[in-house]
Amino acid sequence: MQENAHLEENYRQIISALPKNVELVAVSKTHAAEMIKTVYDLGQRTFGENKVQEIVEKYPQLPKDIKWHLIGHLQTNKVKYIAEFIDTIQSVDSKKLLLEIDKQAAKFNRKIKVLLQVKIAEEETKYGLEIYEAKELFVEFLNNEYPNVDVVGLMGMATFTEDKNQIRKEFTVLKQIFDQLSLKQQMHTLSMGMSNDYPLAIECGANSVRIGSAIFGRRDIV
Ligand SMILES: *Cc1c(COP(=O)(O)O)cnc(C)c1O
Repeated sequence: MQENAHLEENYRQIISALPKNVELVAVSKTHAAEMIKTVYDLGQRTFGENKVQEIVEKYPQLPKDIKWHLIGHLQTNKVKYIAEFIDTIQSVDSKKLLLEIDKQAAKFNRKIKVLLQVKIAEEETKYGLEIYEAKELFVEFLNNEYPNVDVVGLMGMATFTEDKNQIRKEFTVLKQIFDQLSLKQQMHTLSMGMSNDYPLAIECGANSVRIGSAIFGRRDIV
């Protein structure tokens, strides 16, 4: 199929361009399970979705060794629908949410990995922790206040702009916070960079990138 041929080419190109230490989260939101399966068959195991309803629908249709990452804003009352199977929640943007993830993880007798989403963009963004809040939550985590959660890193999104200097500045801020917090306890994952800015994010220290449209093509609905 024409579409699959593109998918394969896109995926191989990106994989071969990524440094070995950089993890790829293939962002499959809005795309059908068959397309995800195509990329899975090429070897990809980590996929990102931004909506609970969508991830809950796709999960049973796809192989069980997929590591699902939630990358979009998560409402507290929806954590229970994904707590049993989600690998990583990248979008922790409040203490209330972190508490609920901890509670739901306990119910399923597991630990859920999370990233703290930090507001780094200059533009007004709805979601994300202020830098001081992220630091506070990490200290609380180190004090064992969230025993069923593993805070493994940070996630951030740069301003949507053509201005590379602006983007670089924002990514650099997040890398600095990552290094600072890593002095308390080493964090593993610095998730920044999407289709249009991932090479820059990697230059700035990202070791995990979230790439959607450059693999799957443009989304009709965003
Ligand atoms: C959609 C999305 C991405 C991927 O965006 P692309 O531009 O398609 O690569 C990455 N991160 C988040 C949080 C997203 O919602």
